[in-house]
Amino acid sequence: MKENEIYRKCIACNQIKTRDTLIKITRQKTTGEIKINPDSKFFGRSAYICKNEECVNNAFKKGKIFKILKIKDNEILKEKIRAVLEK
Ligand SMILES: [Zn+2]
Repeated sequence: MKENEIYRKCIACNQIKTRDTLIKITRQKTTGEIKINPDSKFFGRSAYICKNEECVNNAFKKGKIFKILKIKDNEILKEKIRAVLEK
């Protein structure tokens, strides 16, 4: 691991990866809004998912991502994350 790289764990596959290979989703502390947060502009409880369909799907299995972010089920969120994958 390189010293100057930031590593985070994917909530779906539990692999540690460099920050830029993961999608960051944050529940903004001030507003409670859920944001896709690639530049860490928003501060709050966050989850990281690999940029692939499999990990995105697994992150939503059994509501895992909702438990981690402590939010209610939110189908729109999955669509938003999918949109990031398609870029
Ligand atoms: Zn993963």
